[in-house]
Amino acid sequence: MLMQDRIGFVAGVANHRSIAWGIARALDREGARLVLGYLGDREKQGIEKISSELNNAPLLVPCDASNDESVEAAFARVGEEVGRLDCVVHSIAYAKREDLDGRYADTSRDGYHLALDISAYSLNCLARCAEPLMPDGGGIVAMTYLGSERAIPNYNVMGVAKAALESGVRYLASELGPKGIRVNGLSAGPLKTLAARGIRGFAEMHQQHGQRAALRRNVEIDEVADAALFLCSNMSRGITGEIIYVDAGFRIMGM
Ligand code: NAD
Repeated sequence: MLMQDRIGFVAGVANHRSIAWGIARALDREGARLVLGYLGDREKQGIEKISSELNNAPLLVPCDASNDESVEAAFARVGEEVGRLDCVVHSIAYAKREDLDGRYADTSRDGYHLALDISAYSLNCLARCAEPLMPDGGGIVAMTYLGSERAIPNYNVMGVAKAALESGVRYLASELGPKGIRVNGLSAGPLKTLAARGIRGFAEMHQQHGQRAALRRNVEIDEVADAALFLCSNMSRGITGEIIYVDAGFRIMGM
């Protein structure tokens, strides 16, 4: 029970396919009590349908990561109702569908701001609000993807947002380190989720990834979730500011 008596905030569950849901299940399995931050009514309903799968009933709080007041209110509620946090999972990304298609050069200013705001700046916002609730330190984990460092077809502005997110991981790790708060990124191989469906050509990319990865297969959500559990738990107490790849060894391969 790696997370016995621990409290975790998980943002980004939309449905049973969400990576955040896999992480929530792993944290719950190891004894954590969970707060699930949801975007809107649709996501809330999605969570309500599946939350009976958890051992401990989660606290659900609205948390729109594009809105400072909403995030502040979510963490204020966590403070009132559970008092403290030991880990935070950021599993949030958004870009306009038209910006995950065609040329990166054609990304609108608006679309660029939106993608960077929701997918990267939101980590600052979550970390800032979580910090006072983590007096004993803990782990913050953000989900990222290889498109941050390679030009992956159609990933476009989301790759730029992931580069900003990963850089943010390092700056936050350096600032929060003295308080014992560790901040890491988890770079997952492609998984068939709602967000992935928005990327044109995802199915083909998923297939090629599985063929070319060192393990000659794709990763499963539980494998990503167990790595997130490790980064949230005391097992990874000496690791911060890192991007850990759970991609079946795709990144290390040559041609
Ligand atoms: P998903 O669609 O299940 O999750 C994305 C979540 O972001 C949803 O729950 C959505 O509600 C939330 N979200 C969007 N805008 C928000 C906002 N303004 N405020 C709060 N929440 C908001 O898809 P997923 O694949 O599980 O994505 C989770 C994370 O994993 C994302 O950061 C994604 O980039 C990353 N990731 C996904 C893959 C993949 O192949 N699916 C691979 C690597 C990394």
